[in-house]
Amino acid sequence: MAEDCIFCRIVAGDIPGRIVAETDHAVAFLDANPLAPGHTLVVPREHYARLDEIPSDEAADLFGAVHDITDSVEAAVDADAVSIGINDGEAAGQEVPHTHVHLVPRFEGDGGGP
Ligand code: 5GP
Ligand code: ZN
Repeated sequence: MAEDCIFCRIVAGDIPGRIVAETDHAVAFLDANPLAPGHTLVVPREHYARLDEIPSDEAADLFGAVHDITDSVEAAVDADAVSIGINDGEAAGQEVPHTHVHLVPRFEGDGGGP
């Protein structure tokens, strides 16, 4: 755990996070500043800044979690689709240096997304 990392602290339960799912290696919680209702972040439990730092078994579990919860994220807010993405590195727009997958519910004609 990185003491100064907000996502590590959410995973550890040190600060409140609206957790929606947990697996062996991943935790999903609602984004504090959602791009759309139901915007969810899926993170590895361990602190890895970038996607390529995650061991492959933990990466498989992370994407397994994304796979398994996408339907329920979409259904929870009655969305039409979900945009799924990673800002991998600062120049790509990554602001929190604990790698995370965005699940952004999408609605017909919303014109938005990550
Ligand atoms: P990035 O730009 O790094 O891809 O996305 C970071 C995301 O983390 C943003 O969507 C932002 O709203 C979210 N975020 C930042 N701080 C917090 C926090 O303390 N709690 C939660 N739940 N989300 C956060
Ligand atoms: Zn962290």
